[in-house]
Amino acid sequence: MSVSTVTKDQFKAFVSALVGSDQKVVGVQAKGDKFAFGELIDADDLRLDYDVTILPPKKYMLPQKETLLQFEVGGAAQTVEKGVRKVLLGVHPYDMVAINQMDELFSQGEYDTHYMNRRKNTTIVACDVVTPSENVFASSMNTATCDKGFDILLTDIGDSYVVDAPTDKGQALVAMMDGAAEATDADLDKRKAVQEKNIADLNKHELECKPSYLPKLLEKAYEHPVWEEKARLCYSCGSCNQVCPTCYCFDVQDEVEWDLKSGCRYRAWDGCLLENFATVAGDHNFRKKRADRFRHRLYRKGKYVPSKIGGQIACVGCGRCVSACTAHIANPVDVYNTILETTELS
Ligand code: SF4
Ligand code: SF4
Repeated sequence: MSVSTVTKDQFKAFVSALVGSDQKVVGVQAKGDKFAFGELIDADDLRLDYDVTILPPKKYMLPQKETLLQFEVGGAAQTVEKGVRKVLLGVHPYDMVAINQMDELFSQGEYDTHYMNRRKNTTIVACDVVTPSENVFASSMNTATCDKGFDILLTDIGDSYVVDAPTDKGQALVAMMDGAAEATDADLDKRKAVQEKNIADLNKHELECKPSYLPKLLEKAYEHPVWEEKARLCYSCGSCNQVCPTCYCFDVQDEVEWDLKSGCRYRAWDGCLLENFATVAGDHNFRKKRADRFRHRLYRKGKYVPSKIGGQIACVGCGRCVSACTAHIANPVDVYNTILETTELS
């Protein structure tokens, strides 16, 4: 039985049991009038009807700051890895697509054991969107629904959830759901209706071309005036990077103890809009101008990262950067549509 249905009461009882298990449980909870992923202590606090979370769930695979290794004089460097098993409850499809992209990026070339071990230790319970956020444009980016990466996908069909569990980890969770029954044709029709509605409606900003055209479009836009026009207002605060589910740049630093005998190497999130992001040895900054940094972010999303992951566009349309940018310039759709107005797509 890979697709089943549980009532919301039965699902809540399952979450309560999960919270009491040996796995760490992380779920979406209200934070004032916003929502955030956090450790779940009480099943009543889980909010699967949320619009968007402040930060994406990537922080559970790529923490804001993490120690990579510890070292001491005369001793070997020790890798620091904590293999905590956890369940993430309530990942929206656009965030699931972003995690799928990160999985490709962190496993190709130099295999990133820290990211990948966390990923393997994580069971993902995704859920279709119930409440569109004010700036979501997942429909434009083909990420309003997702078909892989999750262990369970929940779809709210009223009093119940349709539960799709394509993996062994997902099936193990379904086995804990007392009352789960095979989904009926009527349940599956309701799920289809929810997903079709999301494919049409999660579109508060409309990209005026197919996302797959973006790499080609950007090939012709390097000298476009939009970079200077927008960047004039940029504070270089980096908020658009920090809230983005597909931004994965980090900085690596060594910290040495006062006695110079031991220390650690850590990495922390970085952002290409920050002024010193591209500063290298000799204090040379090869992206000193704001316009260059602003352009770089939009090229990463629409051209550079896609060239590494089979053409997938590295903006999933979550809309977080649109909400986070106090200068109102970070919206990728605005920028790409502006370029489209003046650029022939042959
Ligand atoms: S585009 Fe907006 S959010 Fe991003 S660095 Fe500039 S001001 Fe900050
Ligand atoms: S660029 Fe903006 S809208 Fe696109 S994925 Fe990142 S935060 Fe979301």
